Amino acid sequence: MDFKDTIIALATPLGVGAIGVIRLSGDQAIAWVNEVFPNKDLSKQAPHTLHYGRIESNERVYDEVVISLYKGPKSYTKEDVIEISCHGSPYIQESIIQLFVEKGARLARAGEFTQRAFLNGAFDLAQAEAVADVIAADSAAATSAALHQLRGGFSQELAALREELIHFASLIELELDFGEEDVEFADRQDLEDLVNKLLDKVRPLVASFKAGNAIKNGVATVIVGKPNAGKSTLLNALLKEERAIVSDIAGTTRDSLEDEWVLGGIRFRLVDTAGLRDTTDVIEAQGVQRTQAWVKKAQVILYVVDVSVDKPEDIQATLLEMAELDIPLILVLNKVDENQPAIADWEAMGFPTVAISAKFGQGLADFEQTLLDVVGLNQVSNSGTMVTNLRHYEKLKQTQETLEEVLAALKSNLTGDLIAQDLRYALHHLGEITGAISNDDLLKNIFGKFCIGK
Ligand code: GDP
Repeated sequence: MDFKDTIIALATPLGVGAIGVIRLSGDQAIAWVNEVFPNKDLSKQAPHTLHYGRIESNERVYDEVVISLYKGPKSYTKEDVIEISCHGSPYIQESIIQLFVEKGARLARAGEFTQRAFLNGAFDLAQAEAVADVIAADSAAATSAALHQLRGGFSQELAALREELIHFASLIELELDFGEEDVEFADRQDLEDLVNKLLDKVRPLVASFKAGNAIKNGVATVIVGKPNAGKSTLLNALLKEERAIVSDIAGTTRDSLEDEWVLGGIRFRLVDTAGLRDTTDVIEAQGVQRTQAWVKKAQVILYVVDVSVDKPEDIQATLLEMAELDIPLILVLNKVDENQPAIADWEAMGFPTVAISAKFGQGLADFEQTLLDVVGLNQVSNSGTMVTNLRHYEKLKQTQETLEEVLAALKSNLTGDLIAQDLRYALHHLGEITGAISNDDLLKNIFGKFCIGK
């Protein structure tokens, strides 16, 4: 990345709108805009001010605009930044951008403004990633999780603990330098205490990902069971509307239907399937195949059983097959209005089990509670900090595993060099979360997913 470049991009969506905002960042931003803004000398204006006037060049008036002036380091990127609010005409926006490109501005890459902000120390990597999450958030819970992360969330805490760990790592490295001489600079008990303190922070964060991920991406929930078990009726009861076609004829729900349902601030993407029955009907067979594909993508499976016909032994084989997928499954005993099942016999199959009547709305509150439990909403860490980002989760998990190894090494009095190695790994993983350790590929990967202009 060339920091000398002044970059430019449209910060608002492409297309017609009331206004469009063009953003410039870099050393030349103020000077170049000044050249085409005859109304005022921008170089003499106070930062954080707005200026109304024309963009004009070679006797051509481009538009009447409002200029927002920021001088580095008090700006988003910590460089000089100008935002031009112009009329929301794609033609005007493109012409103005072209005007600055001719002066030497470079079109910004996706996420480049935020990347500069990160590289200039405006915030750490986890916070930079939160910027994208705030933009993409589509529910109140997802927005609040992203904003929490943007404000520093867990990264400041982790950074502080990492500093302490660096201190110990260097003491142990020092011991290694002394080789043969049997010296111990790093107090093993203090180190153990610190590792425990770190683990107390890291473990709940790792556990929070299940719920954090559900909040960010919604939960793919697939409703399966034999035809006529009451899958469509359950879906309708949850959505409280006649969404799926309910019928007495086995196999009427031919296609997979996806619906959004919000429970406890979490979006569940409910899929009602055509059932897992072997069939000779061609159209239905396609439905069955699709069912299998959906099941593999599910994060939660709701297995609906009609207890007025089926006994545990009738579905045991299918359930065992499903258990192999290793996806959380809730056994939903339906039609309890017709037949009170022997719950203990069903529970013996080893899945969370609820008894409901989808048709008469019985037992739904209990069902909803079980669903939230299974998704992991009870594992949210006490501080309310939730990990919603897969990359952070993976790094935190690696940190946890390595720290546990450090702990085991300390307990079995392993030599300094082995402990030092584990500490180095732990420091590396922790550093990658906040960007204290980063490389070009990682940054490219992260910021490449941003929109242009951000
Ligand atoms: P699907 O094939 O699994 O989607 O089953 P449906 O939802 O179409 O339901 C099949 C039949 O069972 C319909 O006639 C429903 O009205 C009936 N049904 C569904 N749930 C219940 C329930 O809780 N109690 C009773 N008595 N009937 C139900």
